Amino acid sequence: MQRGLALATLLFSVFVVRATRELSHALQTSFRLTHEMAQAHRIASHAAQTDVLTGINNRRAFFERADQLLSYCQRHQHPLCVLVMDIDHFKTINDAHGHHVGDMVLRQVGELLQTSFRTADLCGRIGGEEFAMVLADTPMDAGLSMAEQLRSDIAQLIVELPHGQPLQVTASLGVVAANLGSDDLPTLLQRADEAMYRAKARGRNRVVAASDPNL
Ligand code: GH3
Ligand code: MG
Ligand code: MG
Repeated sequence: MQRGLALATLLFSVFVVRATRELSHALQTSFRLTHEMAQAHRIASHAAQTDVLTGINNRRAFFERADQLLSYCQRHQHPLCVLVMDIDHFKTINDAHGHHVGDMVLRQVGELLQTSFRTADLCGRIGGEEFAMVLADTPMDAGLSMAEQLRSDIAQLIVELPHGQPLQVTASLGVVAANLGSDDLPTLLQRADEAMYRAKARGRNRVVAASDPNL
């Protein structure tokens, strides 16, 4: 009888140890899968928001985040500027040197944008060779100097070509300051875009303010 009880206890203990080991293994697998899924979700969501060529916000992410930044600045009555920038004669660069050189130019401009602004600011590629920036806490005079600095930095970029002379590029920019009470993002972008087209018409490689009385 005692032997029987001892055997039953031993068998039960073996069962408990095995079951505990299997449960612990199942929990570890479940933790690992949850972690891998969270990581895959982070990678997918970053890819959905990032422009593959330049590494900055794509159009959709830019519009979403710019709307949030504008609302925040309007709520807190902080000044804000919107910049639109378009690379000059980009089609000629593609035609003369090939699409891959055009892509190299876009990549270098993207790298410059990533290092040119504060973390509170926002930049994105909103079209083929068109970029937009939202500068938080920035009144018109500061927005204009940041645009001018960017114009000058782009004009000094040197794009090394596999054959031949290095390439130089320029860009035209339009700047608008938000009227904190009423402006919405599409209106600001449209006004910055009009100013940018005026910069093109005035000879390119320049910055024009939407408040320019000659616009
Ligand atoms: P402007 O000074 O008036 O802006 O002239 P532009 O030549 O820059 O402007 P246009 O709109 O005539 O040409 C833009 C070109 O950009 C045409 C298009 O093929 C090219 N493009 C658009 N997206 C890309 C891209 O991802 N890579 C490359 N290499 N070219 C692109
Ligand atoms: Mg364009
Ligand atoms: Mg262009």
